[in-house]
Amino acid sequence: MKYWPVPNSYSKNIPINGYPGSFWEDRDDRRHCGIDIYAPEWSDVIAIENGKVINIGLFTSSLWVPYWNTTYYILIKNTTSYICKYAELRDVNVHIDEKVNSGQLIGHVGQVLNSQNITKESPSYIKRLLRKKKLSMLHLELLKVPVINIEEYLGGNWYGSKKPSYLVDPTSYLSSIRRNSSQ
Ligand SMILES: [Zn+2]
Repeated sequence: MKYWPVPNSYSKNIPINGYPGSFWEDRDDRRHCGIDIYAPEWSDVIAIENGKVINIGLFTSSLWVPYWNTTYYILIKNTTSYICKYAELRDVNVHIDEKVNSGQLIGHVGQVLNSQNITKESPSYIKRLLRKKKLSMLHLELLKVPVINIEEYLGGNWYGSKKPSYLVDPTSYLSSIRRNSSQ
């Protein structure tokens, strides 16, 4: 049994090709590495499937980019498939090496964007999110191997020219969960 990771999300529609929050969305100087699920700040984030927490860390910070708030990520190695990165979290309710069950609360949605620090000079996709008041979300990535701290990667975006081979498009994974979950 797999669970939709944010029961309280505004929608279970998965952003597809080219739309804001879609996988590999072209953001001019960067590409989006996951899928964004928009939800109010503090919404519960639950584990999609059984697995083990293999890493936890800082995901965004105003020390890196002024329009970011502090958020965290959790890397969970799923029992049956890929590794899920749950990111842009306000807090973390699990610890490294913990075994988690599908549906277990692991953290809460954070407000990744600080509206006060979004300016004319900010990237256009950021200004668009501000206009649509989509400042808080779960950023979900699917990985084949637990890669962290890569130079071309920051806050869920890829700054290199070639898509890394370990990064998986989560669209069909999330679509099947949406169809099969009983929530
Ligand atoms: Zn994202």
